Amino acid sequence: MDFDINKIREDFPILKQNLYSGQLVYFDNGATTQKPNSVINIINEYYSKYNSNIHRGVHYLSEKMTQAYETARKTVKTFINANSDTEIIFTSGTTESINLVAFSFGEIFINEGDEILISEMEHHSNIVPWQMLCERKKAKLKVIKLNHFGELLLGELDELLTDKTKLVAITHVSNTLGTINPIKDIIKKAHAKGAYVLIDGAQGIQHQKVDVKDLDCDFYAFSGHKIYGPTGIGILYGKEELLNKMPPYKGGGDMIKSVTIEKTVYNELPFKFEAGTSNFVGAVGLDHAIRYVQNIGIDKIAEYESDLATYATDAISRIEGVKIFGQSPNKSSIISFNIENIHHFDAGMVLDKMNIAVRTGTHCTEPIMKFFGIDGTIRASLSFYNTKQEVDKLVEGIKKVKELFG
Ligand code: PMP
Repeated sequence: MDFDINKIREDFPILKQNLYSGQLVYFDNGATTQKPNSVINIINEYYSKYNSNIHRGVHYLSEKMTQAYETARKTVKTFINANSDTEIIFTSGTTESINLVAFSFGEIFINEGDEILISEMEHHSNIVPWQMLCERKKAKLKVIKLNHFGELLLGELDELLTDKTKLVAITHVSNTLGTINPIKDIIKKAHAKGAYVLIDGAQGIQHQKVDVKDLDCDFYAFSGHKIYGPTGIGILYGKEELLNKMPPYKGGGDMIKSVTIEKTVYNELPFKFEAGTSNFVGAVGLDHAIRYVQNIGIDKIAEYESDLATYATDAISRIEGVKIFGQSPNKSSIISFNIENIHHFDAGMVLDKMNIAVRTGTHCTEPIMKFFGIDGTIRASLSFYNTKQEVDKLVEGIKKVKELFG
């Protein structure tokens, strides 16, 4: 498929919408992405025609729904090049995927005195579960620090990784700074020290090719809603050998083979980790979101977004008094900035009235804010359905904010 931006925009009904005084300019893709018609329609179709609980029914609807749910698992498996469907666990999103690992992996692999290594640029969902685990197990949380370009100080990795390091949990792409971390190198170094690695892929999966086999990561977590799919569905990829050693995270229906009052025998992978009624229609929505991305081509998406981000970064940084946070040469299409003497909330509110949706605040990364000595930023996160004309509107908007508050 050719990258035809007008045709692509036609696929996203929300983008045609007028807000206060004109068409919506949506630059809050880091928080959640918009949904193409193919995703909206399939959700409608499945609720209209096939809604029925999975895995437990012999009737037509249940079998149809189960088949669609398991097809979605295969689509994810192929998309990230996992070895097997059993390595793909459906969760409610990145946050649940990370919590699953923190609880379940933590239960048997982490002991008193062990170390878990994270970074200063993590989203709170890749910090708090590890703090909770460290408290539970009397383990130690260690941190890879940032530099002023918003990159990790990886020169310190050799010292930070010790024989006690059991897990490195690191983001693929920073949701605030846009930095793309060299995860393949980090994984290699961590493995050389005998540590496992979890990658928070919440901002990675939708912007570039992810091949878990090539990366050799032990876990990769992402959310459906950030890759054009529905909310309430997400993925935990884990190496089968490792997942097999981990105890279930939640108990309930579907995760069991047999139950007596005395004893339960747990189900096999991946069901062992999917207790209760799953978001099965959400999984079908995610399947179609991934197919949509595959149809365009993730490499074409990456190329278009990179070009757009360069254009936006150049234009925004030329505005006097604007400071961009996150200056790594290896960046995704996320631009965080502040305007001199103007609070990010004020700027965000004025931009909103100009029909431009940006996110303001800490973006759930308070340690980054502390590092830069700020209490928030304005964040424009760009997707392949955004255009240079929209970037021009943002630039005009920033100038207007300056005029108003200047
Ligand atoms: N990690 C990163 C890097 C994120 O950007 C986000 C979402 N902002 C999350 C984790 C959490 O994702 P979710 O809320 O979908 O679970």
